Amino acid sequence: MERQDETHDEAIDPVVCLRGLQSAGTLACATRAADGSPRVRFLSGIHFELDAVYILASNGMPFAKQLLADDRIQLLGEVRRGVSVRLTGTAELVPEDERMRWRLRIFAERPDYRELYPPLKYDDSLVFTIRHGYFEYLDLVSVPIKRVYVPFGDGEIKASGFVITPDCARCGSCRSACPQDCIRPGDPFRIVQENCLQCGACVAACPRGAIRPVA
Ligand code: SF4
Ligand code: SF4
Repeated sequence: MERQDETHDEAIDPVVCLRGLQSAGTLACATRAADGSPRVRFLSGIHFELDAVYILASNGMPFAKQLLADDRIQLLGEVRRGVSVRLTGTAELVPEDERMRWRLRIFAERPDYRELYPPLKYDDSLVFTIRHGYFEYLDLVSVPIKRVYVPFGDGEIKASGFVITPDCARCGSCRSACPQDCIRPGDPFRIVQENCLQCGACVAACPRGAIRPVA
């Protein structure tokens, strides 16, 4: 993968993220099973609106049952090599009287579904929608890398990564260890979160244990 120096001047907003997922086509989709273990599959029966994502789920399949029992869901797609978008959110079951509209849209966009899933009929497939959550846009090609969190609907961002606490003694060891040159001097030193790889090299280099995971 060839990395490029870029100025990062493209504004990353929900529309950019939705378009990125849409362009990826087939997405990885993670849910939780009843015992709490993760379940992931590829998903392509998806329709995108500017404020929502609609997902087709055959009634009775484990995927539908998992979402009915636990609405937490993640979608992940590769926009282009080294650039990905992840949507973390909650999946709501679309009311029955609104489902047909979205089924027709999804079937129109994926006509091969009729052959792929013969038992899947308009009148017994479920439709879930994601309206609230947050996106994580990750560009590993640019130098430095770019990681942007973007809220979707009323979703609350739960960012990962590290922060430097007031225990920092300003020795600079973390800065020397950082492969992205994204730690700035100060009191305490500060991580530029947008360029952080979340590799943990700074944590290992800090003699004071002053760098902690984001709460
Ligand atoms: S290595 Fe630890 S103590 Fe030194 S500057 Fe970094 S955070 Fe501060
Ligand atoms: S986690 Fe890695 S990339 Fe991020 S600040 Fe620490 S060393 Fe740099």
